[in-house]
Amino acid sequence: MSIFKIILNLFYPRRCPLCKMWLSVLSEIPLCKDCLGKLEFKSYEDVVGRIKLYSCSKYEGEIRELVHEFKYEKDIELGKFLAKILVSKIDLEKLKNFDLVVPIPLHKNKLEERGFNQSEIFASFISKKLNLRMKRILIKKFETLPQAELKKEDRLKNVKGVFEVRKKLNGENIILVDDVYTTGATLKEAFKILKSNGAGRIVFVTFSRPSTFY
Ligand SMILES: [Zn+2]
Repeated sequence: MSIFKIILNLFYPRRCPLCKMWLSVLSEIPLCKDCLGKLEFKSYEDVVGRIKLYSCSKYEGEIRELVHEFKYEKDIELGKFLAKILVSKIDLEKLKNFDLVVPIPLHKNKLEERGFNQSEIFASFISKKLNLRMKRILIKKFETLPQAELKKEDRLKNVKGVFEVRKKLNGENIILVDDVYTTGATLKEAFKILKSNGAGRIVFVTFSRPSTFY
């Protein structure tokens, strides 16, 4: 652990985002060992509408809390820790023959407000691990309502036509990355626009997936 990190922890002591216990200044991880020990991570490989989905956790309980803490409390250090877990769990062998890692974008207003794109943090860890380029090919054209607040049938409508590509593709195989797969409306919409603009094979990678698929 670097001296810089220890000094940073001294000045900005951290609490465990789950049990709220103070963490030691020497803690290398952004949550306590007890809480970490209770979390279940494994290599999930699902097929959603003929598309492969790789993920490492179920979106429920403490995992859901951690994702919220990362996104809405803007805990980037926690996000990077979750991204490390993701790349340590998913089967990287199966992602070797891809060309690009593409994050699901935020609308520019949302990006400005949050200061970072959570999907990009996951995507950048995947791209480094696989030695592939991460490319911001997709643009989110307009702001949408938070998908979590909508019923399944409204989620599709909410994201319809929301993405465009910066430029046409030439058969590149793409790893499309988002933080969470819930109904898949966002990822499937992005899949459609990438495919109609020349993408080759596409798979999804998300940190979390639902405990049951709709
Ligand atoms: Zn804890």
